Amino acid sequence: MSNQKIWLSSPHMGGTEQNYVNEAFESNWVAPLGPNVTGFEQDLEKFIGQDSHVGALSSGTAALHLGLILLGVKAGDEVICQSMTFSASANPIMYQGATPIFIDSEKETWNLCPIALEEAITDRISKGKKPKAIIAVHLYGMPYKVDEIHAIAKKYEIPVLEDSAEALGSHYKNQKCGTFGEIGVLSFNGNKIITTSGGGAIVTKNKESKDKVIFLSTQARDNAPHYQHSEVGYNYRMSNICAGIGRGQMEVLEDHVGLRRKMHEFYKDYFKDVEGVTVFSEPDSNYFSNHWLSAIVLDPSKTGGKTREDLRLALEQANIESRPLWKPMHLQPVFESYPYYGKNVSEKLFDDGLCMPSGSNLTEEDKNRIRTVLNQFFNKKI
Ligand SMILES: *Cc1c(COP(=O)(O)O)cnc(C)c1O
Repeated sequence: MSNQKIWLSSPHMGGTEQNYVNEAFESNWVAPLGPNVTGFEQDLEKFIGQDSHVGALSSGTAALHLGLILLGVKAGDEVICQSMTFSASANPIMYQGATPIFIDSEKETWNLCPIALEEAITDRISKGKKPKAIIAVHLYGMPYKVDEIHAIAKKYEIPVLEDSAEALGSHYKNQKCGTFGEIGVLSFNGNKIITTSGGGAIVTKNKESKDKVIFLSTQARDNAPHYQHSEVGYNYRMSNICAGIGRGQMEVLEDHVGLRRKMHEFYKDYFKDVEGVTVFSEPDSNYFSNHWLSAIVLDPSKTGGKTREDLRLALEQANIESRPLWKPMHLQPVFESYPYYGKNVSEKLFDDGLCMPSGSNLTEEDKNRIRTVLNQFFNKKI
């Protein structure tokens, strides 16, 4: 058996990406803008549906930043954010000079806890400031409790900025993730379910908002023959080269979702008779996760004291990458002084959870190598 590194999640090209990139070279559309950008946006709009409008940008982080700007978030405002997430969900709040208010997860989807969310909103209002926006995340591709979260958002009339960076291809009650929020965000970073090598997109409900995003992401140039600016602009547009990769990736997106879900099945099947290990799975049939990353939780009181860190190191020994779950933002040195609402659900998940190799490109041989380490670690008889 080879001992090549098995990655958590690595880029997986479908084969036609190069053609779109070549086309861009041949027609000299190497600048930002161009037919691949428009084509990629149309592919995404068709895929997620709901008459969405999609603007392709340089990253998911840029999309979150422009999303906050579109929602009118300014210096001094408060923005609610799921604590258990990648830092990119929260950083744009700081770019705007606003204050993040962090919220714990619930145990089923690991996303925003509706109880902690409402508690936070009422407490912030009683302190004199109504939060300007709610950043809700579909962690590892698992849809958050859409009905509950949006009912609360509606009750207090606070817009939701939906961080769907990990959830392209996931859906809730047959509606695609990315289309629930006032504004949605997608990412095509190298480790995501599809990649443009680096990139992201914003999803809006109308053309005016999309036009505004395009305007802001291309340096906010007013309509004039010279360079004229009445607003602060950004250089956040996706390039036509990257969009070419994206168009090719869209042709294999459904396949890749299927393959990621197969990896999840592999772990479900493996762990079904292993005491003290649960595989992160949909709570019921309303939820459909793309299973971007397959994650497990170890209960050391039932695994004979074996911890997720022990398992991580055992996998590392065999040149297999795994990683603890996202460390909650309220525990991060950069954010620890900001308000936090909730209990210790996300802290506990961080202590005991591990993301397993989940790529759509893992082979049978890779699975065998993973199985061998797991067999040894859990003393599983075959
Ligand atoms: C990857 C990711 C982002 C940021 O996307 P980039 O394209 O890498 O900037 C934002 N939020 C979450 C939850 C992510 O996983």
